[in-house]
Amino acid sequence: MTENSGAMKAAVLREFGQPLSVEEKKIPVPGPNEVLVKIKASGLCVSDLHIQDGIIGTVKLPYTPGHEMAGIIEKIGDSVTSVKVGDHVVGAIDITCGTCRYCLSGRTNLCRSLVRVGFERDGSHAEYCVIPAYNAFKVSDTVPFEQMTSITDAVGCMYNAVKNRAGVKPGDRVLILGTGGLGMNAIQIAKLFGAEVYATSRQPDKLAISLEMGADTVINTSEQNLYDEIVRLTGGEMCDVVIDNIGIKNSINDSLKLVCPGGRVIVAGYNDPLFEADFQDVMKFEKEILGIRGMTRQDLAEVVKFVEEGRIVPFIYKTIPFEEINSGLNMLRTGEAKGRVVLMMND
Ligand SMILES: [Zn+2]
Ligand SMILES: [Zn+2]
Repeated sequence: MTENSGAMKAAVLREFGQPLSVEEKKIPVPGPNEVLVKIKASGLCVSDLHIQDGIIGTVKLPYTPGHEMAGIIEKIGDSVTSVKVGDHVVGAIDITCGTCRYCLSGRTNLCRSLVRVGFERDGSHAEYCVIPAYNAFKVSDTVPFEQMTSITDAVGCMYNAVKNRAGVKPGDRVLILGTGGLGMNAIQIAKLFGAEVYATSRQPDKLAISLEMGADTVINTSEQNLYDEIVRLTGGEMCDVVIDNIGIKNSINDSLKLVCPGGRVIVAGYNDPLFEADFQDVMKFEKEILGIRGMTRQDLAEVVKFVEEGRIVPFIYKTIPFEEINSGLNMLRTGEAKGRVVLMMND
């Protein structure tokens, strides 16, 4: 498998709204400052559904999606010194310019010339993937590949949400609205920053997992009134932070009612394009509604360390063989998946 000019299996999206087809493709060759990663595991994300549905305008077909990669460096291009063959790596999604005002100020996730692995170029739902060496973050080989996949997305995004956007401090009351691929990780990260954590779901099995992930209290929103429960749990003071992984028309306004004056609502889900909110609530009580997009390179480096130390253990719901990609996507679509579903590559 060290020969680099052969064929590989790759999942290809040829038409929006259709299943992906597993096909033979040429193994890509890394150019200068690039690396070839032998993919060991590749996470499935709700964004993969949005891509398949054709609602991410920058995607051009046919191509290979996949943006949560974990693998081993198979080959390095000229001038690469940051990683070597055999290193276990994750691949940062964002390929950033390094020169715009956002890159220069450290907010690399807002780069104005952003190109994303698995969105605007081929990703990791394949046996091999080429990425810039700059995007390859080394991870200790003690971390299982399936857990590594979540570092660059499901865990990293929630780290940015909790640490930077919400600014969670010890003692803060944090409500995680919607516990799935992102929310389960948010629970752990909010605990890491010293918060008291409440988590919601309509599904009892998700609530059980939320408790295992460290939530102090779980609320079954199909049986309990969320507002009343938060009043009760906080003695009427309400939450400092709500992380809204649902992102539907009413969820932001509902979240605004659940935070205290000065509290923050973090918008992490995107399902409806528009939302309605009570601006009196925002203005009179200095409540904030904040977006979150990906993570910075610095966040990613910090998350790698926390995962290596076992202080964050990415929550993986299920691993499946790579060839079963379409049934994996279906698990996400139907809600059967209670967290990340990860494709595993054969050796
Ligand atoms: Zn994603
Ligand atoms: Zn930039």
